[in-house]
Amino acid sequence: MISPYLKNFTVTQPFGYQGHRGIDLSASFGVGDTTIICVAGGQCVYTGWENPRNQYQGYGLCVVIKDNQNRYWIYAHLSKFTIGTGDIVQQGQAIAIEGTTGSSTGLHLHLECRQGGWAQGNVSLNVADILGIPNRTGLVNNTQNAVVNQSQVSANNAPTAAQTNTYNFKYIYSDKIKELQQILNSKGFTLVEDGLFGINTLNALRKYTIEINDSGTLTRWTQEILAQKGYNVGVIDGLAGAQTMFGIEQFQRAKNLGTAKRNNYTYLGGDDWYYLIEG
Ligand SMILES: [Zn+2]
Repeated sequence: MISPYLKNFTVTQPFGYQGHRGIDLSASFGVGDTTIICVAGGQCVYTGWENPRNQYQGYGLCVVIKDNQNRYWIYAHLSKFTIGTGDIVQQGQAIAIEGTTGSSTGLHLHLECRQGGWAQGNVSLNVADILGIPNRTGLVNNTQNAVVNQSQVSANNAPTAAQTNTYNFKYIYSDKIKELQQILNSKGFTLVEDGLFGINTLNALRKYTIEINDSGTLTRWTQEILAQKGYNVGVIDGLAGAQTMFGIEQFQRAKNLGTAKRNNYTYLGGDDWYYLIEG
């Protein structure tokens, strides 16, 4: 079996079920190494929001990799990616972090493989068959895969932080966390506003990124916590201008997190949130 995870994961929706064009997988429940690794090497032909050439597919942030058999692998609903368009990517290399962007009701990866191109009209192959992933819902034990892919990952010098994101919460309490929980609840979550940072608060946060020109209460909160930690984010005005984005990049470099760029700037998202609060 070849899988896009280093550790155990869950099949949450099989390929072909009610016309499902890919397979839905998740590592967000339990073990929680949510790094997505490349299942078939090739060239990255797209990183970004959705698929600009086609009609809306609800894929959110996605990465597309073309392999040497003219197959296009789509990794969708990501919270963050660690490679850029044009990169040559090896099988086993860390490429992204699982998320729930786009039309998605929970943290998971939609993995799809299209023959000959990645437009809507191209045929979606049976991705479960190709990879040897059991095509039924449930937990998949992935020990063998972890051993095989770990060596490939280190050989490719993939970002170390992205590989080892099993969470070890310190359950720190602060008014700042309470404030964050209030902000997230105002966006529709139902977190307990207890000021303790744990998996529920992290999973809610992972629905968001802070990118250039983003504004609002979460942006201001992020500026404040970065400033508190000594990063220069410019004026704390709730608007992610260039100086705020440089502050974010300095933080990402200090923590050895991915610094892939969109619209000329890095962005904060995925497990960056964990390191921002716990680090
Ligand atoms: Zn899906």
